[in-house]
Amino acid sequence: MKDKKSLSNRRAFIKTTGKLSAGAMTTGLFAGGLFTGSPALAREPEKKLGVALVGLGNLSTKQIAPALQKTAHCRLAGIVSGTPEKRKKWASQYDLPESSIYDYESFDKIADNDDIDIVYIVLPNSMHAEYTIRAAKAGKHVFCEKPMATSSEDCRKMINACRDAQRKLGIGYRCQFEPHHLECMKFAAEKNFGPLRHITAGFGFKIGNPKQWRLNKELAGGGPLMDVGVYALQACRYLAGGEPESISAIEIKTDPVKFAEVEETLNWSMQIGDVSCSCQTSYAYNGINQFHAYGTKGHFGLAPAFSYKGIKGTSSSGPIKFPQVDHFQMELDDFAQCVKNDSPTRVPGEEGLRDMLVLEAIYESAATGKTITPAAFQ
Ligand code: NAD
Repeated sequence: MKDKKSLSNRRAFIKTTGKLSAGAMTTGLFAGGLFTGSPALAREPEKKLGVALVGLGNLSTKQIAPALQKTAHCRLAGIVSGTPEKRKKWASQYDLPESSIYDYESFDKIADNDDIDIVYIVLPNSMHAEYTIRAAKAGKHVFCEKPMATSSEDCRKMINACRDAQRKLGIGYRCQFEPHHLECMKFAAEKNFGPLRHITAGFGFKIGNPKQWRLNKELAGGGPLMDVGVYALQACRYLAGGEPESISAIEIKTDPVKFAEVEETLNWSMQIGDVSCSCQTSYAYNGINQFHAYGTKGHFGLAPAFSYKGIKGTSSSGPIKFPQVDHFQMELDDFAQCVKNDSPTRVPGEEGLRDMLVLEAIYESAATGKTITPAAFQ
């Protein structure tokens, strides 16, 4: 029974992410995003798709907008912000026309803007669903930051809205476009170090300002698990090549005032086929940012694994070394090519939903003390 279930889990995983390594190859990831062409693009090979950013906070300002100055297949074409000063500053810095600048009330008028093809949602987590759905209804393709939403129910609504509008939905899982991660996925899939038996993975940081939205349950949906623990979960899923069959989690809280609404630290373990995974996420301390995978013939891993820069890899056969890339440039160029070619993204909404079902099971286990089987494959 367990074998049958584990096989079907593996198949479901491969169905979505099997395009992953193949996708990496066909999009020419390592050759600077080579494009093989589609009839539409053959007519306009140089056309860069227009991207509108919704939410001009830290990530948009420091990572995404700079990445959009380097992308080959898309460009910054519009902004959505509730702050007049930010709108003015960005319009001047990026030479954006007045007609492509929106606030949250006027956002739906983006439907009339032919210069914008993709809307990238970079808002606090609980706002992802509303803006994804509004963007899809406006006829735009949607790229949405992680975590996809704050509940599996919202993830499903987002998937349905994009499906109904016949628009693509991609989730900002930037590590799936990073060469060290791709190499590790290949090691795992090709069993270079033997079949995997164990993975450790963790991501966390010491959080500052106690008033920020990341500590507000209504806006964040949860604490470090939603925010950065999802990277550790992703790594386990794409290395083990399947879905968790059983999950148990423990929450640790040393500061109940600061962490009144969300968890401070979560340790969880899960079984994916023959692979046991031991994971951690925390807002209490710095330095946890790694994964390591152990096979029957050797081991490999990355540390730091999930930072924007400086990814380093080691293995029992020597270092894992690739050029550093801009993760946001890679993910955006890949998504733009999927839109241009009408090809599937390797980070679809369904991938975000699968993670959300596991995150919900982790919270349930931490709250009840029980071992949980995620609802995904029941
Ligand atoms: P941020 O707080 O710096 O920016 C959030 C933006 O949303 C701000 O411009 C703020 O004005 C706007 N906003 C609109 N309504 C708001 C409200 N009700 N409360 C608070 N802010 C509101 O956050 P960020 O770090 O840019 O994160 C944004 C999203 O990006 C989050 O979903 C986060 O998980 C994700 N993120 C992803 C990565 C990554 O590596 N992929 C890194 C950081 C953040």
